[in-house]
Amino acid sequence: MNLILFGPPGAGKGTQAQFIVERYGIPQISTGDMLRAAVRAQTPLGIKAKEIMESGGLVSDELVLGIVKDRLAQSDCDRGFILDGFPRTIPQADSLGSLLAGINREITHVISLDVDNDEIILRLSGRRTCSVCGKGYHIAYDPPKSASVCDACGGNLVQRDDDQEATVKNRLSVYDQQTAPLKEYYEQTGLLRHINGQGSIRDIQQQIGELLEGCSGDHS
Ligand code: AMP
Repeated sequence: MNLILFGPPGAGKGTQAQFIVERYGIPQISTGDMLRAAVRAQTPLGIKAKEIMESGGLVSDELVLGIVKDRLAQSDCDRGFILDGFPRTIPQADSLGSLLAGINREITHVISLDVDNDEIILRLSGRRTCSVCGKGYHIAYDPPKSASVCDACGGNLVQRDDDQEATVKNRLSVYDQQTAPLKEYYEQTGLLRHINGQGSIRDIQQQIGELLEGCSGDHS
């Protein structure tokens, strides 16, 4: 199963990817997570990406393709993978297609999690992450027992720089302009399936499970 989880920032791609990882034993490849790790480690890639990410813009296709190519070459992707936050532009989707064709593989599923913009702004501006263990919270929907403190490890909860409201608005406009056209792109391949991303996490998991049912043995 070679899957693309598609949707605007805050649609729940990361949350649902975790469920698919556990259920099907294939890795989540989140370009956003990999870029944030590079920024933290101050690698040459991270230094180039930092400012762009803070503004809510897109890192260059070339840089992102490089990290995806290296990641897909790792052996844990042999049985399949979940792409989360990639591709985000039509050139990225074209390059992904060529990259996979070169190793005799192809995308088997594209799932679009559909969530409207007002809900996205509410979700992202309330999102907090533990600075120590990475566990995620939402100040209204999934608050910690004690404000700003992680229930799991006692770490301090922080807001991602790019989850500030002004940056969220920019991320959404970048999404509308550069990423949303990929819906049409994958519609034409016949792979795109839509899921309403505004139900409960469990309901959405169930819908994704039904959609993927019977596909766990597909290693193409
Ligand atoms: P995410 O965690 O997926 O929302 O990504 C956070 C930020 O990382 C984005 O706002 C972009 O600046 C950058 N980023 C992540 N994935 C990509 C991608 N596929 N292409 C370009 N930039 C990306």
